[in-house]
Amino acid sequence: MPELPEVEVTRLSFADRISGALISSVRMGKPLRWPLGCEPQALVGRKVTQVRRRGKYLLIDLDKGLLLLHLGMSGSLSFSVEQSPAKPHDHFDLMTSKGLLRLNDPRRFGAVVFVEDECSAEAAKLLGHLGVEPLNGEFDLERFYKALRQKKAAIKQVLLAGELVVGVGNIYASEALFLAGIRPTVRAFKISRLRAEKLRLAIIDVLARAVKKGGSTLRDFSNAEGQQGYFQLEANVYDRAGEPCRVCGANVKRIQQGQRSTYFCPSCQKP
Ligand SMILES: [Zn+2]
Repeated sequence: MPELPEVEVTRLSFADRISGALISSVRMGKPLRWPLGCEPQALVGRKVTQVRRRGKYLLIDLDKGLLLLHLGMSGSLSFSVEQSPAKPHDHFDLMTSKGLLRLNDPRRFGAVVFVEDECSAEAAKLLGHLGVEPLNGEFDLERFYKALRQKKAAIKQVLLAGELVVGVGNIYASEALFLAGIRPTVRAFKISRLRAEKLRLAIIDVLARAVKKGGSTLRDFSNAEGQQGYFQLEANVYDRAGEPCRVCGANVKRIQQGQRSTYFCPSCQKP
């Protein structure tokens, strides 16, 4: 499943190149998770002004309205100046004066939704519940610490829920908690201000490194083929059950938390 760093790297891969492009046609494949919300023809003639990201949504701003695009479980985007025939899993094509933006999505949990503006009811339904962005400076200690105090669940679960801060998926949650020295089972409200700050910095560090790693991977994609999968960081604990901790040598443990595997070092990460 594409995570925040993958979505951000996808954005970086075409945002500049599509900016200023005029939409010349729209092709819809099989139905995606949600309907487009307008007649495809209504998009023709509009101009793409910029591409932003909110959580795992890409916001393609038009001179009138915007498209919210989500990659779902298996989606990937490509942007290319050459037109090529649609393949079976290509379910959305935005043909523009600067190239073809194409969504390939075998499982069709992705979506492209047109909204008049970001404050519309439809946009609020998709974006309204999202926590703060971890990478743009709005993720501050005061708000984070205060929000943690309100949560009784285990910190790993709280991070995965994405209500306090977006983008901390399973791998990144395990790695950030390791860097912060916090056991994933600690209840969020018991985390001290000092540990909350360590965790905040660890989350930023892990996600920023993943984006950077993805960015360097991307330079090889000169034709901007859509990329999939994780930008695997050198994991400290994730998927390393039974292997020695890189810091202290103790065996990394795996537990189940809400259907997901959690990895941690029982010595470095304190309850
Ligand atoms: Zn350790």
